[in-house]
Amino acid sequence: MLYSSGLFRTKLPQRNDADGLIWLESAGYAKKISSGCIALLPPAVLVLEKISGAFRRFCREQGFWEMFLPSLQEMFLWEKSGRAERFAGLFCETTLKDGKRYVINPTQEESMVNLFCQSDFKDKDMPLRYFQIGERIRNELQPSHGFIRSRSFVMGDMYILARNEIELSEEMHRMDEVMRSFLGWLGLPYKKASYYFAPLESPADSFWVPSATKQCFVHTCTACINSYRFGKQIMDVCPNCGHLMENVPAVELGDIVRHGTIITGKMNALSIGSNKPIQTAVGGIGLSRLMQILAEYYHDEHGLVWPIEIAPFDIHLIANQERAEEAKKLTKNLEILGCTVLLDLRDQSIGRSLIDADLLGIPMRVVLANKTTTGKLDIKVRKTGITLIGGISELLEIKNLLYESKSQIGN
Ligand SMILES: [Zn+2]
Repeated sequence: MLYSSGLFRTKLPQRNDADGLIWLESAGYAKKISSGCIALLPPAVLVLEKISGAFRRFCREQGFWEMFLPSLQEMFLWEKSGRAERFAGLFCETTLKDGKRYVINPTQEESMVNLFCQSDFKDKDMPLRYFQIGERIRNELQPSHGFIRSRSFVMGDMYILARNEIELSEEMHRMDEVMRSFLGWLGLPYKKASYYFAPLESPADSFWVPSATKQCFVHTCTACINSYRFGKQIMDVCPNCGHLMENVPAVELGDIVRHGTIITGKMNALSIGSNKPIQTAVGGIGLSRLMQILAEYYHDEHGLVWPIEIAPFDIHLIANQERAEEAKKLTKNLEILGCTVLLDLRDQSIGRSLIDADLLGIPMRVVLANKTTTGKLDIKVRKTGITLIGGISELLEIKNLLYESKSQIGN
């Protein structure tokens, strides 16, 4: 892709901030357009495509089917499930010309259960496993921390519909496996905590990482595996084990909630021929939120430093006007060889383009300018800073090495 055909201008950040959003904004990945609403710009969409793709793969490996349910949900479903009151302040509502009240996609448990109620599944067809990837809308009164508490965000969510409690417990391991594989693949040092004094009446697991955003505090026991997630810092001693707790500023990446029959009981969700409501659990992970946290973890003082699996492109190719034709041919060749290339032929100083390359954080940078002659590439690896003069074969070798080294980061 050609840099000048759609990428936004970069700007150097004002300070060396730990906040991932600052680096995404500086490098032209994201732009805040109104309170709690952030546009994902072209390179961010490429990153989102990669992380969504990985989430999709891990869900399918665990036997989940992808679905896409409409954003408009009839309000009466929420009244029926008994959750309208609790979510009241968070709804974006609208009344359409049919006179009915609708909620715009805060989450989809009600829609999923309603779809089940309108279908004809028998007990023997269960358990059912679904996942979705899409935008969620919440009326956050005080949006903060960029994508962490925004009004519009991208979620990946999983649903299990099971016959009974035992089956639900067994099936929930699949959600846990998806979370672990996915977060491990991203290379994040995630941990799992329990909700404590939970705002939810259902037991929940929270997947978190230490984060400068301080979206939440996780209290981890200094002597055993107990850990609990809170909105703020509130205790020193663990009520379960009596050990001292350490308070870690963190961000929640995703959670798994066991609803059991809380929603299905009220919505009267029964499989055909059964007289007991089905059991449900939901797992959710904020994909746009993740992108901000990845930027927090994967940057240095010059800009973003993406692992190659997540990066918007493999190679950032910069050329001066004299070598533009050579750069175009090289781009085509590299694409044929399976590389993705961002081609920067902008009429500006090479120095300025190099600053942009550091900000954008694409794993390999190639320059065609005065330092080399035709056929020779000035190559730099963004992460290590290692530079060399070589050809296409060296470039492909580095690409393979980057893929191999990434798999060691994941756990
Ligand atoms: Zn303990």
